[in-house]
Amino acid sequence: MEQFQCKGGKRLTAIREVALKWVVGAKRIAGAKREAGVYDKELQPLQGSAVPRFYGFFKNIIGDLEVGCIVLEWCSGPAIKDTFELNRQRMIAGIALHKAGVRHNKILDPAHYIAVSDGTLRMVGFSSAKTHQCAGTTMLSRDVNGDQKPAKCCSELAALESRFGVDSDRLGREVRLVNRIFPEFDAGFFYSY
Ligand SMILES: [Zn+2]
Repeated sequence: MEQFQCKGGKRLTAIREVALKWVVGAKRIAGAKREAGVYDKELQPLQGSAVPRFYGFFKNIIGDLEVGCIVLEWCSGPAIKDTFELNRQRMIAGIALHKAGVRHNKILDPAHYIAVSDGTLRMVGFSSAKTHQCAGTTMLSRDVNGDQKPAKCCSELAALESRFGVDSDRLGREVRLVNRIFPEFDAGFFYSY
């Protein structure tokens, strides 16, 4: 976003850098509108931390095409090279998302996590997201007396933990044994996700 002296005049200052997500066609516009709604409502408390700031959704007819545009905070920063830290940040963002009442539905895609300059991540790509209620906790943080697949566990957070949590570096079994919970990880979480 930039500010100009007058229409067509000299550029005064850049107000802020933004990312534009353009979509074309009724189906994708409907998806973008839904995504914008999630940013604006459920994800509002997480804007600027777990997700980018949301500045608006616009649509118009350009020529023969109906186009839509989501305007988000521009996020960039050096990639987190430490795998443990990267996965830790992914877990933090995912848990925050579920606590806010949103299921991402593409949470395992590494492309949906963008590093920013303060060393944290922003989660993006909410076109398949749905509102959702769960305890916002992962398997290892629950005490369910050794039940490997408690009925109330959140399948997306279980999948997140299986990919990015302690199981991601094959230490999961040891961590579980030490803590006397879930001696064996149920791989069904990963494959059923
Ligand atoms: Zn959940």
